[in-house]
Amino acid sequence: MQVSLRDKVAIVTGASSGIGRAIALEFGRSGARVVVNYHGHREDGEEVVRQIADAGAEAIAVQGDVSQQADVRGLVEAAVDRFGKLDIMVNNAGIEQRMPFLETPLEVWEKVIAVNLTGTWLGCQEAARQMVRQGGGGRIINISSVHEDLPMPTNSPYCAAKGGVRMLARTLAVELAPHKITVNNIAPGAIETPMNSNLKEHPELLQQLLHEIPLGRIGRPEEVAQLALYLASEAASYITGSTYFIDGGMIRHSGSL
Ligand code: NAD
Repeated sequence: MQVSLRDKVAIVTGASSGIGRAIALEFGRSGARVVVNYHGHREDGEEVVRQIADAGAEAIAVQGDVSQQADVRGLVEAAVDRFGKLDIMVNNAGIEQRMPFLETPLEVWEKVIAVNLTGTWLGCQEAARQMVRQGGGGRIINISSVHEDLPMPTNSPYCAAKGGVRMLARTLAVELAPHKITVNNIAPGAIETPMNSNLKEHPELLQQLLHEIPLGRIGRPEEVAQLALYLASEAASYITGSTYFIDGGMIRHSGSL
C-alpha cells in the first residue's frame, strides 16, 4: 500500500521526542508539511525540523504548552499562517507521574489531567474549528494508551486522563462526522521512549513487563508512527470513533477487555 500525505498539513504536539517525534518524521517523509510542537526543548524541536527538511519536506518548530488554550490556538495559527491550512491534528503530548493513590497530591492530579486530557480536548477543539472553517474535513488522532482501558495501580491521574480521551474521541467522532472530520485514538502499550527510561535502570521491572507482553518485546516509536500515518491517510477515510491498540498483545493478555 502506497501511503502519501502530499499536500497535507499536520500538527504533532509533543513532537520533540519519543512517539511524537517519530510521527512528525514519518509524516514529513510521506510528504506532509508539519508543525513540530515542542514544550521545553527548542533544540530538539529544531532537530526534528532539520530531519524533515533533509527528507525533502517542510516543517516549523513551534513552542507551546498544550494545557494552555492560547498556546494551542497558536499552533493552529502557525499552521495556517505558514502552510495555509490544517488537515491533520495529532494530540500526542503527555506526561505521567506515578505514585500511590493515597499519597497523590491534588497538584499532581491537576497537572496530569491538564496536559493529557485538557490538552487533548483543546487540541481537538482548535483543530476542528479550523477544519470546519476551511471545509473539506480533516483527521484528528489522539495518542491515548492501553491505560484508556487497562487499570494501572499508582497511576490514577494518567489512567483517568486516558480513559477520558477514550470517550472524548468517541463523542467527537459522532459530533464532527457531519463535517467529515474523523477522530481516532492510538493506544500504545510499552514503547521505548523517554517516558519509559526507568526500565533501563530497573531490569527487574523490564522482565516483569515483558511477561505481560505476548510478543515478548517493547515497541518502537516508529511502529506507532506507521499506524498514525495510516490513520492520517486517505486509506483510513471510513474509520472514525475507534481506538487502535498497538501493544504487542498486552491488553488481551491482561484480560481487561
Ligand atoms: P515522551 O516523554 O518522549 O513524549 C512526551 C512529549 O510530550 C515530550 O516531547 C514532552 O516535551 C511533551 N510534553 C509534555 N508536556 C507538554 C505540554 N504541557 N505541552 C506540550 N508538550 C508537552 O514520551 P512518549 O512515550 O513519546 O509519549 C507520547 C505519548 O504517548 C503520550 O501521550 C503518552 O502518554 C503516550 N504513551 C506512551 C507510552 C510509552 O510506553 N512510551 C505508552 C502509552 C502511551
